[in-house]
Parts: sequence; C-alpha cells; structure tokens
Amino acid sequence: METTIDIQAESFVRDLAAAIVAPRAGECLACYLDRVVRDAPCDGSLRLSRMYRDALAPRAVALESRLESGGGFCDCEVLMNVYWSKAEEVKPCRGARRGSTKPCDLWFRRRRGDGW
Ligand SMILES: [Zn+2]
Ligand SMILES: [Zn+2]
Repeated sequence: METTIDIQAESFVRDLAAAIVAPRAGECLACYLDRVVRDAPCDGSLRLSRMYRDALAPRAVALESRLESGGGFCDCEVLMNVYWSKAEEVKPCRGARRGSTKPCDLWFRRRRGDGW
C-alpha cells in the first residue's frame, strides 16, 4: 500500500521542476511568489499561489477569491496588485505562521482604490 509520503516523493523525482517551485517551510506567500516567479514564469493562473496553499495552508480555501478581489488573477499580478513590498530587498523572509497565507511584515496588502 502506498502512503501519501511515497506518492509525494515519487512525483518529486518524476518532476524535478516541482522541487524548484516547492514552497519552503516558514516562507510566506509573498516571499515565495517573489522568489519563484523568477524561475517559473507566470502562466497566467494562480498556479503557484495554489501550490503554496496546498503545501502550507490547505485550509485557506478562500485564498484565490481573496487574491482575485485584490486584482491578483495570476501569480505575477498578486505581486503587482495585491501585496507590495515595503523595501527593495525582500530577503530573507521574516517568516509566516504555518497554515496562514498572510505575508510577513516585509509586505503590506494594498487597499483597493489606493494609488493611481
Ligand atoms: Zn501573471
Ligand atoms: Zn516573507
């Protein structure tokens, strides 16, 4: 009988690209996207945000609708429209609570209607 761990390990071996985009424990959503979008160009969906959610915050089922309501309809738009960094350099991540999709305090959530 295969355990979930076996299946995960297998798919990692099969798809090495998955290892590059794997969220790191303790890394917040915004820092994760900032790091990974450089290596795994946005494909026009919230693919990476979903991957982060599934790996670290599986109970955050409303994540996509929250991001979309802030203008983030794909991974790069999340960084353009939803979460803005407070500094040029957003490394290292200050850390996220496990199970939470809240970014660390290097980021703030842009309010609708701000700017422009
Ligand atoms: Zn995009
Ligand atoms: Zn962070």
